[in-house]
Amino acid sequence: MPFLFTQSQAILARTWIPCQDRPGVRFTYNAKVKVPEGMLALMSASNPTQKSATGDYEFTMPQPIPSYLLALGAGDLEFIALGERSGVYAEPEMVRNAAFEFGQTEKMIEKAEELYGPYYWGRYDMLVLPPSFPFGGMENPRLTFLTPTVIVGDLSLVSLIAHELAHSWSGNLVTNGTWNDFWLNEGFTVYFEMRIMERVYGPDFADMLVALSYDDLQKELAEMLENDPEATILKQNLAGKNPDDGVNAIAYDKGFHFLKLCEQTVGRETWDGFIKGYFEKYRFKTMVTEQFLQELAQLLTQDQWDAIGVDQWVYGKGLPVNCPFPASNRFFIVDEAVKMMLSTAPEAPDAKQMCYTEFETTKFWSTHEWLRYIRGLEAGGATVGHYALADENYGFSGSPNPEIVAAWFSAILRTSYEGYDPSIYAKTVTEFLTKVGRRKFIVPMYASMLEGDEKRQAWAKEIYSKARPSYHPLSQGTLDALFDSYE
Ligand SMILES: [Zn+2]
Repeated sequence: MPFLFTQSQAILARTWIPCQDRPGVRFTYNAKVKVPEGMLALMSASNPTQKSATGDYEFTMPQPIPSYLLALGAGDLEFIALGERSGVYAEPEMVRNAAFEFGQTEKMIEKAEELYGPYYWGRYDMLVLPPSFPFGGMENPRLTFLTPTVIVGDLSLVSLIAHELAHSWSGNLVTNGTWNDFWLNEGFTVYFEMRIMERVYGPDFADMLVALSYDDLQKELAEMLENDPEATILKQNLAGKNPDDGVNAIAYDKGFHFLKLCEQTVGRETWDGFIKGYFEKYRFKTMVTEQFLQELAQLLTQDQWDAIGVDQWVYGKGLPVNCPFPASNRFFIVDEAVKMMLSTAPEAPDAKQMCYTEFETTKFWSTHEWLRYIRGLEAGGATVGHYALADENYGFSGSPNPEIVAAWFSAILRTSYEGYDPSIYAKTVTEFLTKVGRRKFIVPMYASMLEGDEKRQAWAKEIYSKARPSYHPLSQGTLDALFDSYE
């Protein structure tokens, strides 16, 4: 059965519905949709849970939304309820695994409400999309769209649900007035996501996410400061650019760390009261950076404002030196394991044992620990020999977890290491890049290949020419530009 899904953010609603396509304009809507018999249609609105006999569906969205939250999906879909007001839609072969993976959703909604006030959208349902979906998730109201690549069986990637759920407040309820204010949507949402994760999974788990966010930020900042320093300013200037260019670690992670610093400066209780009041005061309205700063000025004393350096954070380039540095207990052990690997001489006869971290330790590792491990090897200048040892010990090349596969191959594709079996290595890379279209995974993998030797570059071009037609236009656009820059 075919599977149709839309993507309206940032300015793509106009490609399927004539509308005033900017985030500062809100509207309610009704819709009649006809799809082929046997398919279920869903929108960012009130939704059916059963297929209709004729393929006709009607939708109502009584809460006013901006155009970028208009959404439609249709396919051979089934529904499983997760709680009173939440559930998941997916294709029949996927829906049970999805319901298992997202089983904590109702608890997340409760914790989110405890933090920042009522959930105003009635239901919170999710739709699992095909692997070509270019993002992790899209916060379409009442119907979050999700990549299937977070369904890994161990619930380790559900921070994505916390993120999309948090958007029900930051973004969907209080919306960035223009795309230049995108950090108000994403920085707040990352902050709120971390708070939900802390409440549901504990501080040690949330600390890992914060540390990974900090690493992402440092990595992207280094590149951006070299190529386009203006783009590292929180309040963006997108004049003449596609707003999609602003989807980067600045809005998400620099925005998050700024809000984290505000929290640390005024104390959590005061800060939470402020945020809760802010969502309540501006619900179903739009917000721009300057208006938010006016609100913030009423909370902070002049001394606090200066100590934070609010103007520098919002209008300055790079990352201010008072950015909170994340500490993670669980990553401390991982970092030790990385050191042990990097201090091992790969040609030593007992190298494989010397660099091995006991299964008694690693069996408790989540996806995040493994990501930290792989990134640690990369940042620490691992050689081909080190990668081979890591692969032998932990089997990264054969991992069923897309997050680990993407991190691992992004690290090794630029090197001459070809896995413990070159034919399996070639098959894994080709199949992954042909099947998955999530931009966060495939862009660094291709970039890594393009940084490699001529053989790697030719291979990247060969795979891309085959895989490109199955990618979403947003992924195609990003990759076309990447390949052009290596011409
Ligand atoms: Zn988001």
